[in-house]
Amino acid sequence: MKRRDFMTACTGAAVTALSNTRLWGTGERLHIVSLSFDDGFRKSFIRIAETYEKFGLSACFNIIASAHMPGNKVRDDYMKQELFGDFGLWNELLDRGHEIMPHGYQHAHLASIPLAEAKDLVLRCLEIFAKELRGFDPMKAVFNFPYNQSSPELEEWLPSVVRAFRTTGGMINPLPTQSTIKITTGGWGPDSAEKHVDETVEALLAQPAGWMVYNLHGLDEEGWGPISPGYLEALLARLRKLDSVRIVPTARALMQAGG
Ligand SMILES: [Zn+2]
Repeated sequence: MKRRDFMTACTGAAVTALSNTRLWGTGERLHIVSLSFDDGFRKSFIRIAETYEKFGLSACFNIIASAHMPGNKVRDDYMKQELFGDFGLWNELLDRGHEIMPHGYQHAHLASIPLAEAKDLVLRCLEIFAKELRGFDPMKAVFNFPYNQSSPELEEWLPSVVRAFRTTGGMINPLPTQSTIKITTGGWGPDSAEKHVDETVEALLAQPAGWMVYNLHGLDEEGWGPISPGYLEALLARLRKLDSVRIVPTARALMQAGG
């Protein structure tokens, strides 16, 4: 890159950061952190919610729509049927200020099945959410792809049924704007994700501005790439002390960006 191109690129990033800082009320540095917890593990999600509440923060939970139903087809070696919560709990957590977003109907790998079938599963997922989750509005929702695996065809279609979607890619996104539709994420597993979360936080803070969307699952032994309750509490406590950091669920980050 020539020096002039570099300067132009930097100026563009700075302008974006500054226009966002007006919305977020901070200095020139702005780091949004969204820890995006998947699947719907009852025990872990209750504990995560309580930990966020200690700091007056909202957690970001992504739920498999049919996981609570008898005879459902949600199967994976790290997801046992008896571990899942239900919409009674999800509504309670919503009332307590947490974000509950869709993570597929039955956790199918949507990119590897026929497009019509994949679309049908997304729509069935949204139908369950509309029926079971109080006040659910798909046009304010983020659809979180199971396994973070999307296809170009699904990515093109999804904005017609939801506000945005989360799929695989870098964990550090540009700051959200009104036109943000695709959010990228990543994670670590199957063993503890703690070291990798720390490294990702460091990478985020090394930039002037950015939005880290890190995909987690459960606590202790629950879910893929778990973290410990003590680690989560210490992480939130540490990040809360940094002036440039805002800890916000993904859909709320989009809303606060004016989208
Ligand atoms: Zn999942």
